[in-house]
Amino acid sequence: MSIQTQLELNQAQASIYTRTNIRRAFQDFDDTSITGIYLRGDNCLVVRSDGSEQTYNRQLIKAAYSSYTNRLKDFFSYLGPNYRGPSVWHNNAYILFKGWNYTHALGHLTSNSQLQAHWADKFIHLSDPAKVTALLQSDQTDLGHLIAPDGLRLPNRPIDLDSDMDTEEEAPVMGDPWCSCGSYQRQLSNLSDFASEIQGFRPWCIHLTWFNKYRELLCKRTEARNSSPSGTPEKCVAWWYAPPSDHISDGRFVLLYTNSGAQAPLSHWRTYKPREIFTQNDAWDLFFNMMEAGYVPFPGTSLPQLKAAIKK
Ligand SMILES: [Zn+2]
Repeated sequence: MSIQTQLELNQAQASIYTRTNIRRAFQDFDDTSITGIYLRGDNCLVVRSDGSEQTYNRQLIKAAYSSYTNRLKDFFSYLGPNYRGPSVWHNNAYILFKGWNYTHALGHLTSNSQLQAHWADKFIHLSDPAKVTALLQSDQTDLGHLIAPDGLRLPNRPIDLDSDMDTEEEAPVMGDPWCSCGSYQRQLSNLSDFASEIQGFRPWCIHLTWFNKYRELLCKRTEARNSSPSGTPEKCVAWWYAPPSDHISDGRFVLLYTNSGAQAPLSHWRTYKPREIFTQNDAWDLFFNMMEAGYVPFPGTSLPQLKAAIKK
């Protein structure tokens, strides 16, 4: 085994062996006074300004990188105005908004969320993926991403009338999940370096993880809805979310449930676990648990008879 120190990290290695990822793998890692991060055999070598060196297991840092890059963010992280989920665009892709409305009590007033509201129904009129991506993630706008969890369909080539070929081939569908975000694109453009660093590597990002979870939620919701014999579900759960009013606290997530259908008057609804405080971080689990028990979730804002239940 070579114990030679590799001085130049390639793009993939430079994304993996960072101070933050070393700290994710080793909680007591001191990330101050570092003059260089190198690779030596199975270890990552950290050199300090006083000349001292420490080694850290490469495998653990890679695992920390992967689980961080692919982590599931909370339910509200990628909802647009009015709890809008990803919206269908062209080329097998969707517009995924960042949850600017839900990061803060005043989030709906930020220029980003106002731009989202302004643009939400207009993206469909654009047909160039590059243009849409630029609008979504420019220096001035940070609205969201273009995402194709089932693979981006390449635009058809224009038909060449002078061509001898009488059959124009369909543009291929790339089956690989795709996202316009910086993290995914960096992996894609350094694919062979990532693949030689991480066994079985395939490009991925937090947006793809979130999208898949959201899609699973929609499927489960349809199942729960269709399983009621009358066609109208009796077991319903209404939810509300109040984003935090500062940048330290969590938001409040509240659920009311009934066995008398979504239109039931307020008196037929009960607070779910009134003694517990739920936050945005509980939302996924609560939704899936409720649906598992046969309850169909509805945004509380869509049920006017429950308005009085929730203090502003
Ligand atoms: Zn992404």
